[in-house]
Amino acid sequence: RAAPLQAVLGLLTEAGHQALLVGGCVRNAALGEDLSDIDIATDARPERVMDLAAQAGLKAIPTGIDHGTVTVVAGGRAHEVTTFRRDVETHGRHATVAFSDDIHEDAARRDFTMNALYAQADGTVLDPLGQGLADLSARHLRFVGDPDARIQEDYLRILRFFRFTAWYGRDLDPDGYAACAANLYGLAGLSRERVGAEMLKLLGAPDPAPAVAAMAQAGILQAVLPGADARGLAPLIHLEARPADALRRLAVLGGTDVAERLRLSKAQSKRLERLREAALSPERPEVLGYRLGAEDGADACLLHHALMGQEMPEGWQDRIGFGARQVFPVQAADLMPEFTGAALGEKLRALEARWVASGFTLSRSELLG
Ligand code: ATP
Ligand code: MG
Repeated sequence: RAAPLQAVLGLLTEAGHQALLVGGCVRNAALGEDLSDIDIATDARPERVMDLAAQAGLKAIPTGIDHGTVTVVAGGRAHEVTTFRRDVETHGRHATVAFSDDIHEDAARRDFTMNALYAQADGTVLDPLGQGLADLSARHLRFVGDPDARIQEDYLRILRFFRFTAWYGRDLDPDGYAACAANLYGLAGLSRERVGAEMLKLLGAPDPAPAVAAMAQAGILQAVLPGADARGLAPLIHLEARPADALRRLAVLGGTDVAERLRLSKAQSKRLERLREAALSPERPEVLGYRLGAEDGADACLLHHALMGQEMPEGWQDRIGFGARQVFPVQAADLMPEFTGAALGEKLRALEARWVASGFTLSRSELLG
């Protein structure tokens, strides 16, 4: 991973430019957490980045040339190289961007102090705002500048505030929280894709329950997901004991038109609906395992008990596994030609229901006899 990255940084620094890692990768490396994507910031203009990459024989794609982003491919990996930017105030609140040579300007337009850290190729961390490193080690998620003004430039920052606090913060910053609450009406203007992506990232945090409870308290959760109820989330986190799963957590919140509001994929919205439906009907773990399979069966069982405020039943995981392994012993052919068409389907379902109710004990001949 290091060599291609050094090549991309070197291509810029050897030409006399600044080239720095920035944002999530610096923050996460400092915390010892996994890195997602690698972003590079530079004072070189996008055309210059394209030229230098071409001279070095590397593929460069002008992915977002208007925003200053060029993707440089090295060692089979994509590196997003973005020119320093500064905000230019236009009429109204929304800022447009212009390129900049100044790392301080680039840092000032980022959302949170711990997201405004940079690192050189040798690993030296730069903190142009002079607050990011201290906030990071205190796990204090704090807006860059005035929270109210920063939120009004981009209301998605409300959701990012809770997302990053859940992942990397400790307590909610009170000024940030107050500004989020005061500006929640702005959430309505955001695209559903952006809202959905942030909500899923938030719910994928190790423990999003405190952040989501705070969102509910301020009315932000209901603004994003009308009808949602945060109360099942903390019990679910307590019961889970399995890898974080944003969709399982989303299912416990409920709400109307969730798939539509968060622009979930077909597969995601189907799974959400299955989980939600199963969680609301009290079925034994064996039955959930049989109907939904081991994975979704376990999720539905967890959801049900979280919503009921109950502990998990003894041996639930084994019981779900047992259900998931059961195979209905009767086939359509066993009932033909006596039954055909709709009557055949009905008979099969009736026999299956009897078999399930028997705890999967009735044999094929007992069912057919
Ligand atoms: P991760 O990729 O792990 O989710 P990240 O910090 O890299 O976290 P991204 O959404 O990838 O988050 O954004 C990269 C960086 O760009 C951020 O760290 C931040 O500095 C800046 N940034 C992204 N979105 C915004 C925004 N809406 N307002 C201000 N700055 C932003
Ligand atoms: Mg990132």
